[in-house]
Amino acid sequence: MRISESRAKAEGRAQVRPTAEGWKQAMGDDGRPQLQFTAKKRVSQPPVHLADLTLAERADKLKEMGLPGFRAKQLSVHYFQHYTTDPELMSDLPKDRRAEIAEVMFPTLLTEVKRLATDDGKTIKFLWRLFDGSLVESVLMRYSNRITLCISSQCGCGMNCPFCATGQAGLTRNMSTAEILDQIVQANRVIAEGGLGGQKHPEERVGNIVFMGMGEPLANYKRVMNAVHRMVADVPEGLGMSARGITVSTVGLVPAINKLSEEGVPVTFALSLHAPDDELRDEMIPVNSRWKVDEALDAAFNYYVKTGRRVSIEYALIKDMNDHGWRADLLARKLNARGRGWVHVNPIPLNPTPGSVWTASEPDVTAEFIDRLESAGVPTTLRDTRGKEIDGACGQLAAAE
Ligand code: SAH
Repeated sequence: MRISESRAKAEGRAQVRPTAEGWKQAMGDDGRPQLQFTAKKRVSQPPVHLADLTLAERADKLKEMGLPGFRAKQLSVHYFQHYTTDPELMSDLPKDRRAEIAEVMFPTLLTEVKRLATDDGKTIKFLWRLFDGSLVESVLMRYSNRITLCISSQCGCGMNCPFCATGQAGLTRNMSTAEILDQIVQANRVIAEGGLGGQKHPEERVGNIVFMGMGEPLANYKRVMNAVHRMVADVPEGLGMSARGITVSTVGLVPAINKLSEEGVPVTFALSLHAPDDELRDEMIPVNSRWKVDEALDAAFNYYVKTGRRVSIEYALIKDMNDHGWRADLLARKLNARGRGWVHVNPIPLNPTPGSVWTASEPDVTAEFIDRLESAGVPTTLRDTRGKEIDGACGQLAAAE
């Protein structure tokens, strides 16, 4: 009997194994769930957009068009501060060249295909079509004290986690820096136009970004980091957001986590752990074949040491799969072995995905899981998950029309 089965039995519980149900998980030549770290061959990236460039590069590009460099600043303010790409609204540009400038600097990246709202309009899921027909989603959420946008970083995802809808179709390509950023600018425009429900505040905009939409952000490291740098850069270089309000969530690509801790941008770091033992995590998170639980935790701890930022451990609670008491205890032991005060745990009740027969843990089991972590001194907060009614919650983004 496997270790996890005997431990479950000792608790009077079952041990369900994470096999894909209702759909076929793609398998690699080695007979294991397939991992795609790079985009399919011969995919092209979208045309270069102002947001792909630094302020200096924008000025260079305009100079090539025979325009003075200061136009870069004007165009950047239009985009990052007024969320506009419409040449008609750019009265500070020479009239005869406005259309041409906008065409070069602001090629259309995201075309809205569908907008679904729930929670009295306080949660909106956007479905976007990209220049090559790829579909991605982002989810905008108003809370009492903040507005959060959950953004995508890849078209699809190559990590193939059997409980997440995004991985079911594999990875098509990486999103460009500007495609990543344009999700925020578009959301800010919707907010400014009064399109997000709930109590309005003056001058409000997206303050928190979570890279928890489609894709594995650390598998698209360079473009994602360029986007992050531009989010925190002041207007007109970027959006002038706070790094603390940005959360980068990863399945556990250890070398990239270590690189992230050296970037000098103190973003919030989240590790999608979901199991403290390799026996189970090997089956739940295919990338665990490369980097084991302890290596991922060491990298997360190193992120804390290097940045001083407390890290989050995400843990989707799945009935009879990963929600046993002994797993809560083991997780607490592994976290405490590395130190105190460096981490908190975010359990998330599993959201249903197409074909999946697994369900979220029972409330009493969830409560006990949290209790065990808390009693061991590990701060733990159950994630309030939004947007289930519109398939916009964690793990549900699959982008179909
Ligand atoms: N690839 C990144 C970011 C995208 S997923 C990552 O894995 O972290 C954002 C979070 O939603 C991750 O913690 C992911 O494990 C979780 N998630 C995936 N499927 C889910 C589901 N069906 N229910 C609840 N959370 C899920």
